[in-house]
Amino acid sequence: MAKPKLAMYWAASCGGCEISVLNIGDKILAIDEAFDIVFFPCIADFKYDDVRGYPDDYIDLCLFNGAIRCSENEEMARLLRRKSKVLVAFGSCAYEGCVPGLSNLTTARATLHTAYIDNSSIDNPAGVLPQRVTKVPEGELEIPVFYDTVKALDQVVPVEYIIPGCPPEPPQIAAVMEAIITGAELPAPGGAIIGAGKVAVCEECPLAKDVKQITRFYRPYEIIPEPGICLLEQGLLCMGPATRSGCGALCPRVNMRCEGCYGPLDGVEDQGARILSAVASVVAAGKPSDDEAGLERQIDEVMATLEDPAGTFYRFSLAHSLLQRVRAQ
Ligand code: SF4
Ligand code: SF4
Repeated sequence: MAKPKLAMYWAASCGGCEISVLNIGDKILAIDEAFDIVFFPCIADFKYDDVRGYPDDYIDLCLFNGAIRCSENEEMARLLRRKSKVLVAFGSCAYEGCVPGLSNLTTARATLHTAYIDNSSIDNPAGVLPQRVTKVPEGELEIPVFYDTVKALDQVVPVEYIIPGCPPEPPQIAAVMEAIITGAELPAPGGAIIGAGKVAVCEECPLAKDVKQITRFYRPYEIIPEPGICLLEQGLLCMGPATRSGCGALCPRVNMRCEGCYGPLDGVEDQGARILSAVASVVAAGKPSDDEAGLERQIDEVMATLEDPAGTFYRFSLAHSLLQRVRAQ
């Protein structure tokens, strides 16, 4: 009997999602046993033309990792959508843009300028930037269009499921793959989240919450947190209250703040807006007798100690947030 067909593709991302699949250990053998791999450029020599040659709906399951950053990513998203019965946004970049999505705070032109010109590790006195088309003796070489706006996969094509995480944790991947292999019931498709929890990371976190208030924020290198105590209550901006569980609170367990990689909780559209309300609850500013202007000034003073609020609140989710990108440059 023919096995179901599996594809995995890597768009704008770091490659950690592919490594995470390999990190499921000997369970990878069950995947190999259960599926025919028909496209997986990271581990085997497949060409785009192989995929173009497949009939529509030929691929039973496609794990698509990476954001849509350039025209090549978009072309592959549309192609794999057409060729796949079940398309999964696999990992934070495909789900919500992740770190590549932070370039929505600026433009493609400014990003290229920083990468190729205004950069102390680059020697480029002529200010050469990548060209769309380059003439060579053999003809013309083209590179993809570098977009101004990074998008998540489901902002370009519909997806059946989303597996969050940067990267998704191997036990979660193994559980999802096992469910698919054994035919266990999955949630109804249409962008449902699988391989993660429903509550906040705080619910999985063993650190004690004491409803302490803080008068300033710290960057991780500025403070050695007291063991056993909630990091947010020590001034480290932990995204746990605004982030979906499922990782087992890996970061706070080792005294590192949660950076938010599992994305927003169920029912929360904007992770950054959600963390703001948690931040408001820990900031100590003002007393009942203060007038509004005085209170505002005290709040501003505390918030001024928070470095890079956009990059902290939206490190993983900017492209998929209500903001999506800055409006004008
Ligand atoms: S805010 Fe962070 S450190 Fe505090 S309980 Fe939540 S996950 Fe744990
Ligand atoms: S604690 Fe937060 S940043 Fe760390 S793995 Fe879990 S969701 Fe991701």
